[in-house]
Amino acid sequence: RKKLLEIKGLQTTFFTDDGQIPAVDNIDFSVYEGEIVGIVGESGSGKSVTSLSIMGLIPSPPGKITGGEILLDGKNIAAYTDKQMQKVRGKDVAMIFQEPMTSLNPLFTIGDQLKEAILIHSPKWSKKEALARAVEIMKLVGLPRAEALLKDYPHQLSGGMRQRVMIAMALLCNPKVLIADEPTTALDVTIQAQILQLMKDLNHRLNTAVLLITHDLGVVAETCERVIVMYAGQIVEEAPIAEIFAEPKHPYTQGLIKSVPDMRYKKDNLYSIPGTVPKPGSIKVGCRFAARCEYAMERCTQETPPLYEAGEQHKSRCFLQDEQEVKQRVERFIES
Ligand code: SF4
Ligand code: MG
Repeated sequence: RKKLLEIKGLQTTFFTDDGQIPAVDNIDFSVYEGEIVGIVGESGSGKSVTSLSIMGLIPSPPGKITGGEILLDGKNIAAYTDKQMQKVRGKDVAMIFQEPMTSLNPLFTIGDQLKEAILIHSPKWSKKEALARAVEIMKLVGLPRAEALLKDYPHQLSGGMRQRVMIAMALLCNPKVLIADEPTTALDVTIQAQILQLMKDLNHRLNTAVLLITHDLGVVAETCERVIVMYAGQIVEEAPIAEIFAEPKHPYTQGLIKSVPDMRYKKDNLYSIPGTVPKPGSIKVGCRFAARCEYAMERCTQETPPLYEAGEQHKSRCFLQDEQEVKQRVERFIES
């Protein structure tokens, strides 16, 4: 499969009164054609900043991409001007957000907004052609009575339908990559499942690569082929989906898996990882997860763990992955 998107050493910094905050701190990953990749982490992990960096939507000031490359089809879009990025956005890479109400304009009908979005990238089209395309894409995302819906205003639609409209808008120009940031978080469980299924169908039918950003590993389990786990601005684990659930390597990922709600039992008192994500940049040396890690060793606060190879397609940023460490543990065990 072809590499569509390649993130190399990406660094996105926020310049605040409290100093420089490296919200995304030297991350590397790739997305291949037709693939669905999940990025998982708690709030403050840097996952949304990663997606906004790819979209060229980091608010500046205070934010700025301060290092690395974002290669889309081999071209470094991190170096693009705002004007150049406007041509890429929506056309090559599109994004849908958590709350469609904030991205749809309440004063305009669905039809007007879809038409406008089409005409930005295809200014030569007639209004009639644009509306025909709008109807076609609305049917594709499973919106019933598409023609009638064109005349509706956003508030007349249910949350699930609004999210379908947003997905339609994102797909208008056949983007190569679709970034979905918490696309189902604001929806109830049934609608959530339908939207995830829709994204899978679209990925299958249109071969659009999807980067799914979520705090919920359960969402990733149902949708993605591969998952990247972020913590305090860094990637801490990356693996194919089956492998990460069968054999999570990083203690943070293990905690996230334990916190996935089990719908079958409707458990109330869920496990949650104690403590909170440290502010990126606040820990200069050592593992950023150490304060919350039940396996933390002396070494974890004195040295900074690299991203170890933990399998053929598996990486983990944890000293437990270090062969020397493993050997010493076995030796200590044998001696005792
Ligand atoms: Fe825990 Fe140490 Fe691994 Fe960090 S490096 S996750 S503190 S065991
Ligand atoms: Mg977010």
